[in-house]
Amino acid sequence: MPLTYLALGTNLGDRSANLRAALEALAARLTITARSRVYETPPWGYADQPAFFNMVIAARTDLPPLALLDVLKSLETALGRRPSFRYGPRQIDLDILFYDDLVLDQPRLTIPHPRLHERAFVLVPLAEIAPDLVHPQIGLPVRALLGAVSAAGIHEVAADI
Ligand code: ATP
Ligand code: CA
Ligand code: CA
Repeated sequence: MPLTYLALGTNLGDRSANLRAALEALAARLTITARSRVYETPPWGYADQPAFFNMVIAARTDLPPLALLDVLKSLETALGRRPSFRYGPRQIDLDILFYDDLVLDQPRLTIPHPRLHERAFVLVPLAEIAPDLVHPQIGLPVRALLGAVSAAGIHEVAADI
C-alpha cells in the first residue's frame, strides 16, 4: 500500500482537541504508521493570528491521491473548518506532503507539497519521524531540508495531546 505523509495544523479553538479529533478521524480511514510529537509554531504567511499546533503523520492508504485529498477536505469540514483567507486562522488544516515518491502537479493537487521545504513547522515534526526520507524533486533528505531553514520560535508541546 502506498505510504503518505500528512501535515496537521490548527490555531483556532482547543488546538489539542482539534488534533485529537483529526487523528481519530484519520485513523478510521488510513493506517497510521508513525506520528510526530506536537509543536507550537509561530504563524507563517500572515503573522497577526494565534500560534499553531503542528504535527506530521505517516500512513498507509489504498486511496489514490485525489481521493485522499477529497477525504482530507471533507474531514476538515466535519472537524469545523470554516472558509478563511489564505494562510489565515483555521480549526484544522490537513495537507498531503508526500505520497510514496510521486511527483504530481494538477490544478487541485501538487505533490510533494510545494512549500514544505520552506516550512520549519512541517520539517521539524517530519524530521522526527522521517529524517532520511528523500524529497523526490529536490533530492535531499528531510534532515538536510530542515538544516536549511530557521526553526526559531518552534517548541515541543510538553503534554501529549
Ligand atoms: P498551503 O497549501 O500553502 O499550506 P493552505 O493549506 O492554507 O495553504 P488550503 O486553503 O487548505 O491552503 O487549500 C487550498 C487548496 O490547495 C486545496 O483546496 C487543494 O485543492 C490544494 N492543494 C494542492 N496541493 C495540495 C496538497 N499537497 N495538500 C493539500 N491541499 C493541496
Ligand atoms: Ca497548509
Ligand atoms: Ca491545506
